[in-house]
Amino acid sequence: MKTTLQIKLIPDDTQRKALEDTMRVFNAACDVIADVAFREQCASKFVLQKLVYAHVRKQFGLSAQLTIRAIAKVVDAYKRDKSKQCVFKPTGAVVYDQRILSFKGLEAASILTLQGRLTVAMHMGDYQRLQFGRGHGQADLVRVDGVFYLLLVIETPTAPPIDPNGFIGVDLGIVQIACDSDGEAFSGETVENTRRRDHALRQSLQACGSRSARRHLQRIRRNEARFRRNQNHVLSKTLVAKAKDTGRGIKLEQLKHIRERTTVRKSDRAKHSGWSFFQLQSFIAYKAKREGVVVQYVDPRNTSRQCAACGHLDKANRKSQSRFQCVSCGHVANADQNAAINIAARANVNSPRVAHDDNNGWFECSHKPRPLGRGN
Ligand SMILES: [Zn+2]
Repeated sequence: MKTTLQIKLIPDDTQRKALEDTMRVFNAACDVIADVAFREQCASKFVLQKLVYAHVRKQFGLSAQLTIRAIAKVVDAYKRDKSKQCVFKPTGAVVYDQRILSFKGLEAASILTLQGRLTVAMHMGDYQRLQFGRGHGQADLVRVDGVFYLLLVIETPTAPPIDPNGFIGVDLGIVQIACDSDGEAFSGETVENTRRRDHALRQSLQACGSRSARRHLQRIRRNEARFRRNQNHVLSKTLVAKAKDTGRGIKLEQLKHIRERTTVRKSDRAKHSGWSFFQLQSFIAYKAKREGVVVQYVDPRNTSRQCAACGHLDKANRKSQSRFQCVSCGHVANADQNAAINIAARANVNSPRVAHDDNNGWFECSHKPRPLGRGN
């Protein structure tokens, strides 16, 4: 299984400028190539290369191999959706392979830029150091909140799937980030409390709009994202371990409907939660695959309104955020657990929206009408 390792780069000022320039030019080249790909309806790297290679090299001054990588990036994006022309963010990922990226031990990366090869210092934690050897020199250069990272593709060993003896259903929410069909709940209190505490501060910073206010806001967002990411790692690890220990698989809701289902007060909050749910599901999916735990996806409609005891479906069954009481059979339960039991009992829809994508949720291409999101 391919996963990615995120490695922080520590460029000096000159190197930073070179990386930024390379990124901008690479993505500008992608836009030009995408124009040709769309016009010619061409999804073949080979054919597209014949059409654009000489012109792109000349116009953008890209090296041969970076030009090839740009063509490959466009073809990958175009193949995903041929109905629209892809548009690339100026700070979108630059795709590297072993010909244009190499490593000097664990300390530095030698990266091809418009200014030639640069040796840029890297910072790795213990986990990264341990996993680093699994890489094959294929990596994306990305910039998030002004920080450069290499997303290194690594090969993670997987266990053969274990034939599951029953399933754990998992209900995702906001007050309780997750609740499983055994009734074990993972509270979202801490992160929501922090969000509430920071809310007034965020608003005043947003209203202020000065450079330092924007920086402060960015820092708050980064801290929140880190907190959620860590929380999602802990939670997914716990769930997968529990499933493995009890010989069960995991059933999750197909994510499309989650935002409609969850009551949200603020669109901002919905956005963050939506992202967090997606991330949590991705983490569960790839950790499960690594351990041989089977993950299935179910239709999420009405999981919170249906009685897990008798199957009666009624909006009135849900008495409050946390309380479920069936108007037909009188069954009383915690609302999230009731939903999780329904999820565990439902049939596999067999089309996971969140199979673990190799890129850890980093998308290569943004089609025009969609507002450009975070990172890449
Ligand atoms: Zn009932």
